[in-house]
Amino acid sequence: MLTFPVPKPASSAPSHHDVATTVTVAHGDGIGPEIMSATLRILDAAGAGLRYDTITVGAAAYAQGHTGGIAPAAWESLRQSRVLLKAPITTPQGGGFKSLNVTLRKTLGLYANVRPCRAYAPYVPTRHPDMDVVIIRENEEDVYAGIEHRQTDDVVQCLKLYSVPGTERIIRYAFEFARAAGRRKVTCMTKDNIMKMTDGLFHRVFTQVAAEYPDLQHDHFIVDIGAAKLATRPEAFDVVVLPNLYGDILSDVAAELAGSIGLAGSANIGTEVAMFEAVHGSAPDIAGKDIANPSGLLLAAVQMLVHLKQPKTAALIHNAWLRTIEDGVHTADIYQAGPSTAKVGTQAFADAVIARLGEQPSAMRPVSYTDAAPLPTARPVVARAAASKSLVGVDVFVHFREPHPRALAELIRPLAGPAFALQMITNRGVKVWPDGHPETFCTDHWRCRFKLAPDWQTVTNEDVVALLSRLSAAGIDFIKTEHLYSFDGEPGFTLGHGQ
Ligand code: NAD
Repeated sequence: MLTFPVPKPASSAPSHHDVATTVTVAHGDGIGPEIMSATLRILDAAGAGLRYDTITVGAAAYAQGHTGGIAPAAWESLRQSRVLLKAPITTPQGGGFKSLNVTLRKTLGLYANVRPCRAYAPYVPTRHPDMDVVIIRENEEDVYAGIEHRQTDDVVQCLKLYSVPGTERIIRYAFEFARAAGRRKVTCMTKDNIMKMTDGLFHRVFTQVAAEYPDLQHDHFIVDIGAAKLATRPEAFDVVVLPNLYGDILSDVAAELAGSIGLAGSANIGTEVAMFEAVHGSAPDIAGKDIANPSGLLLAAVQMLVHLKQPKTAALIHNAWLRTIEDGVHTADIYQAGPSTAKVGTQAFADAVIARLGEQPSAMRPVSYTDAAPLPTARPVVARAAASKSLVGVDVFVHFREPHPRALAELIRPLAGPAFALQMITNRGVKVWPDGHPETFCTDHWRCRFKLAPDWQTVTNEDVVALLSRLSAAGIDFIKTEHLYSFDGEPGFTLGHGQ
């Protein structure tokens, strides 16, 4: 059993104390308790105005039968404090358990994941010594809604959902963050050349919101070329805002490029609650040995202090930490002969940071934080006038085993009328009827598009139900439908034949 040292007085202890705010603290699993102890000692020595309310999450909570990894009493603490400093936890293997991070993110509406990725060259090796990027990832929408279905023998699907308010909230947060952090540019990345509706919405809202921040530059990249540029010239980027999936991938890439995934902290911001944690996991392989690097959690705690409007203490700790890294006092994970002068354990590293409180780095750029922490924006403000919506057709997805589109067309075409006409059939998005190519590989999953018949005025849900009844009576195995609407005369669907 490890014992943790009592805090020593800092050599240049800060003279100020912030007004105390209660934060909820979760000590986590594996290396969690060790790195949390180190982090809290540094916070206390720096005079952070914090009181701690400790909750049980992770292995202990799972063992008590809480499948979400969190005890019910913990929610009350979070409701009161609205801020969680969380050490990594061990997610149990096997079915029946839900990831605590997903539970927290979804329950608390933590829509923005903010991950600073800065190089600390030459003290931590990296090919990009000038890199200093903040990745802001949308955290709630996209394919992470977890709405997946198996529909036929051959085909499974995952729904990619973007909402106007969800998109606007993350993009507005990115601009507010950039302004408050004294950054100059916000970059957006999407794949809107392919996903014109979902990624197209993200890009369009980005352009709209950017117009309200003329003091900040903005640009957009298609995510493939953008990712390639980020990987080769990360110093050209400043703040990058991304939908959930691209953000998940690129935030890890960016942290690796900076040379320091083990040093990265992250903030998960919601309208009501915010959570701060290291990016890495509970590292069970080195738990209990006093060798883990507490820097990821410490830098997350620095983000927390900025959020709590304790910017001076945040800078005091961050600069002392930079000085420690610069002085070559390193834990084993970043130790290298040359730049490193001392290989220290977790608690000795914390002591080294505490001893440097009040000092600035001399070679690396010191940080400074302003009082203007970005505030979560609760309400979307881009106009959301209800559009005039009319039903103009329906896509009926059919499970049909014969690989012959013409056979399917001959079966269903006579069943379309009178309200609808069969316009086309696609397979995996490629048009196969009419005028298909015999070379196209076909699965057992077909999309049959029925549009308003030329001599028909309007269609209603009753017409769709009647169409489905006719298909059902004819033994057609339809597995889902998507209504085709126009909004203010604009089609609310893609033409979708594999362009
Ligand atoms: P990990 O990040 O825990 O460890 C990967 C490697 O990095 C290991 O070799 C580990 O020793 C090392 N490492 C990680 N943090 C370190 C530190 N601070 N100092 C020195 N070395 C460090 O990833 P993993 O092994 O894939 O996952 C272990 C457990 O953590 C799993 O149960 C996983 O589900 C969980 N996890 C939790 C979180 C979280 O709570 N936010 C995040 C990721 C993984």
